[in-house]
Amino acid sequence: MLKRYLFAPGPTPVPPEVLLAMAKPVIHHRAPEFAQLFGEVREDLKWLFQTRNDVLILAASGTGGMEGSVANFLSPGERALVVNGGKFGERWGKICKTFGVQVTELKVEWGQSVDPQAVADALKKDPSIKAVYVQASETSTGVAHDVKRLAEATKAREGTILVVDAITALGVFDIKTDVWGLDVVVTGSQKALMLPPGLAFVSVSEKAWQMADKAKNGAFYFNFKKERESQIKNQTAYTPAVSMILGLQEVLRMLKAEGLDAVFARQARLAHAMREGVRAAGLSLFAKQSPSDALTAIAAPEGVDGQAIYKNLRVHYGITAAGGQDHLKGKIFRVSHMGYMDTFDVITALAAIEMVVKGLGYPMKLGSGVAKAQELLMVGAEASGSRR
Ligand SMILES: *Cc1c(COP(=O)(O)O)cnc(C)c1O
Repeated sequence: MLKRYLFAPGPTPVPPEVLLAMAKPVIHHRAPEFAQLFGEVREDLKWLFQTRNDVLILAASGTGGMEGSVANFLSPGERALVVNGGKFGERWGKICKTFGVQVTELKVEWGQSVDPQAVADALKKDPSIKAVYVQASETSTGVAHDVKRLAEATKAREGTILVVDAITALGVFDIKTDVWGLDVVVTGSQKALMLPPGLAFVSVSEKAWQMADKAKNGAFYFNFKKERESQIKNQTAYTPAVSMILGLQEVLRMLKAEGLDAVFARQARLAHAMREGVRAAGLSLFAKQSPSDALTAIAAPEGVDGQAIYKNLRVHYGITAAGGQDHLKGKIFRVSHMGYMDTFDVITALAAIEMVVKGLGYPMKLGSGVAKAQELLMVGAEASGSRR
């Protein structure tokens, strides 16, 4: 037997309480019980998104929410600014092109975060830009973009919205949707929200709804206006993923019981311990600046293939992490600590990394990264009450 551990940046582990909630009998989506369930999760999602606007719930993976966030707000021929600092930034560009949207791409070197001034300058230079598309956390590189600063450039500009892919950010670190002025915020179920894959969530500001009224692109299934008409009545336009929504109800109850600030503090603490553990083990982080608290991208050490690390973790120790994508394949590997994670997940991951890297012939002092993480994550003697 090989016990399995899921340390991939999506899908992430699902708590047993949530699995049990999803095992409940399916309720019919036009029955009053569903409307009650849907009403509850809609309210709680507003809390999680820190918004007063409606948060649409879609039966799709995160990319469905991204696609809808292009199709519903822009018309063919209109222009968007796309921040491309990795695989997911690149995806925004591909979706825009699919819908005939003209793309101005702001390329950011992988491992770096976007300079907010560069976004402000690009907007100033081209008044025809109707939307800015960005990731709050670029999962392919493990870097966070400062969406709060980016919003400063779009907030006051009439007719331009900021669309944020927060798929590995929401529920990990602070995303103040309304206060910062993020017009559209997208997330998915299988990352920080501790659910299986299958739901996408999108919050939409009043400014963005006004653009949706004028947009000629449209979509049939991901038609946000049509969904909103149903969802404000606690219904969905089409058959919802009922069992997933039962799981979501449980997730939101868990998150509310912990509290948003406590969730962010836990995620930050784990991320910090992971990064320091990696450094103490003699490895280096791939992110050159503002590493995301959702996951850690680690550079494969000199002479060691990153894909071999990823593969050995899985084959020998039952650990699913992730490799690098595109030109980073073999150069990095990625370990997630978002969602249903705690102290010993980080320690387990670090221990396994040390064992695998050493096993591949790289000089590594076993326990060096683990010890650092233990130090950082240990609850002090005062807190545990063991000392006078
Ligand atoms: C996972 C992820 C997505 C969406 O991927 P799906 O496979 O469609 O759920 C989009 N953006 C980022 C940053 C992600 O991490």
